[in-house]
Amino acid sequence: MQAHHAAWDLRNGQPVPAGMRLHRTCQTPECVRHWVLDRQYRKLDERAVRAIRESRLSGPALAKLYRIGREYAWKIKRGLARRT
Ligand SMILES: [Zn+2]
Repeated sequence: MQAHHAAWDLRNGQPVPAGMRLHRTCQTPECVRHWVLDRQYRKLDERAVRAIRESRLSGPALAKLYRIGREYAWKIKRGLARRT
C-alpha cells in the first residue's frame, strides 16, 4: 500500500474505497497528509460501480463514502446509472 493511502486509511478509519482515487491538495510530492478523495464522481470507475452495487451499505452511507450524491448512489445500486 502506498504511504498516502495508508495515511488516509488511518485518518478516516477505513481504507480508500475501491475504485476511488486520492488527489493531493498540496505542492509537496512526498506529502502523505494532504490527500482527499477525488470528488468528481463521474470518474467512478468500473471497480467503484461494482463495489457500490455489491455493497450492503445503504445509499446514503455509500454516497458519503464515495462523496457522491445520494440519488446517484441510489441509481448505481439499482443499475440505473452507468459510467459516463
Ligand atoms: Zn501536504
